[in-house]
Amino acid sequence: SEERSLNFLEQIVEDDIANGVNGGRVLTRFPPEPNGYLHIGHAKSICLNFGLAQKYNGQTNLRFDDTNPVTEDTEYVDSIKADIQWLGFQWANEFYASDYFEQLYNFAVELIKKGLAYVDDSTAAEIAALKGTPTEPGKDSPYRNRSVEENLQLFADMRAGKYPDGAKVLRAKVDMASPNMHMRDPLMYRIKHAHHHRTGDAWCIYPMYDFAHGQSDSIEQITHSICTLEFIPHRPLYDWFIEKLGIFPSRQYEFSRLSLNYTVMSKRKLLQLVNEGHVTGWDDPRMPTLSGYRRRGYTPSSIRTFADRIGVQKRDNLIDVGLLEFCIREELNKTANRVMAVMDPVKLVITSFPEGQTEELQAENNPEDESAGHRKVTFSNTLYIEREDFMENPPKKFFRLGPGLAVRLKYAYIIKCDSFEKDEAGNVTTIYCTHLPESRSGADNSGLTVKGTIHWVSAAHAAQAEVRLYDRLFSVENPAAEEGDFKSFINPNSLQVISNAMVEPSLLEAKAGDRFQFLRKGYFCVDQDSTPGKPVFNRTVTLKDTWAK
Ligand code: ATP
Ligand code: MG
Ligand code: MG
Repeated sequence: SEERSLNFLEQIVEDDIANGVNGGRVLTRFPPEPNGYLHIGHAKSICLNFGLAQKYNGQTNLRFDDTNPVTEDTEYVDSIKADIQWLGFQWANEFYASDYFEQLYNFAVELIKKGLAYVDDSTAAEIAALKGTPTEPGKDSPYRNRSVEENLQLFADMRAGKYPDGAKVLRAKVDMASPNMHMRDPLMYRIKHAHHHRTGDAWCIYPMYDFAHGQSDSIEQITHSICTLEFIPHRPLYDWFIEKLGIFPSRQYEFSRLSLNYTVMSKRKLLQLVNEGHVTGWDDPRMPTLSGYRRRGYTPSSIRTFADRIGVQKRDNLIDVGLLEFCIREELNKTANRVMAVMDPVKLVITSFPEGQTEELQAENNPEDESAGHRKVTFSNTLYIEREDFMENPPKKFFRLGPGLAVRLKYAYIIKCDSFEKDEAGNVTTIYCTHLPESRSGADNSGLTVKGTIHWVSAAHAAQAEVRLYDRLFSVENPAAEEGDFKSFINPNSLQVISNAMVEPSLLEAKAGDRFQFLRKGYFCVDQDSTPGKPVFNRTVTLKDTWAK
């Protein structure tokens, strides 16, 4: 990878190592909530957490932040693990915040005993009413001065299931006048009689994020707990719990979350797209999920390269999806074999080439990679070419086919158009040409030069294929920032299905996940929906680079 200066997190880690903090040990964690599939934003966090650990001889834990029983599911746990491994990373330990429920409960009891937590019977509305505003202090809850004994009993009763949902909460006793709203006696536990995907019905109280997260970091002795910017105001509370409990001092650091244009990135919104059928699933190639990008044809290395290029900042910004496209295009240009596929076929007959005769032509698999070798492509007198490569009345600088115009057929001959036929609707049905036998590619003695080269397939040998062309899922740059329902900005043309493309027969042997460049058309990947007689291709990205560097 390229030489670059240290990012601010690398600088922090290097300073810590130099100062002997934690004996120079580096342990990071990636803490997904298993309530959806991972998206490209998570990839940034994964590359950062695992990348830092790798760079400084450390390790990374995978910790499922599964403290909210209602939205979580094992399907998500499995997909998250598969996606991290696909990206090329391996965690040191697989942990679950729910495994710490007993320990967290004991921490809470300890804080009660120290007079630093209390049970509050107020409703959510009552608590909100006393919270104050950023400019006015809050007011104490009438339950704030309960005795330690009473709090211990009530908290035990909460755990034992004596109260319905919402009847009571456990709050930290911090400071109702703090200028930081998060310090105004934040909630630590809520009552929720819900089945948990791992702990079943063992618990009916669940810890809030702020109480679970930092303590889980500390239990695992995480050295650098990296999260996104919106957690900056939570950091004093993160440190407060650790200090009051006197436990391992994990430290929290914040970086900007990744936002990409023309998509949404919150799992809640992505789930809506799936549940309401706007996409075919979490792995729909239009989704910004890792499973979507994988199916679309993105490689793990292209996503890692992208994460590296966007870097780590302390300021939120919207990244151009063109940069991600640039990364995969640059990689596939070096690695993808070139093949010919005709999206919108029109028949072309070469009257000068004997009917029924074939010729095997030599085709270069990848001009960027000599080791990719060559293949044979069958030529005959009846071909398919792209309908758009022929014009009945071509303008001056049209270097493709039209009456009287000449063009080169890739890997084959120069041909000249003599005539054409149309149907009653005015559509061209057949184009008639003659070829120059002495103009064969690699052995051209014709002395003729033509400006254009077009791709083709032999009609009798080609295979039919389905091709799926994708465009941006949303028609505005930042759908989440628009007024109204973000789904009203879905691009109605985000998927175009071509069901009768004609491709080189070699593509019948391609397996799901194989990647190709279709000459002049872009990079494509074989979809899992392919059947033995009919491959299905997803367009990963077009050939043209639209990203301004
Ligand atoms: P969402 O809003 O999509 O649900 P989340 O932050 O709630 O996101 P988590 O499963 O809690 O999702 O995220 C796991 C980790 O990934 C967290 O450390 C979080 O900071 C990080 N992360 C999530 N989204 C992004 C993003 N867009 N850019 C960078 N990191 C992210
Ligand atoms: Mg989260
Ligand atoms: Mg979330």
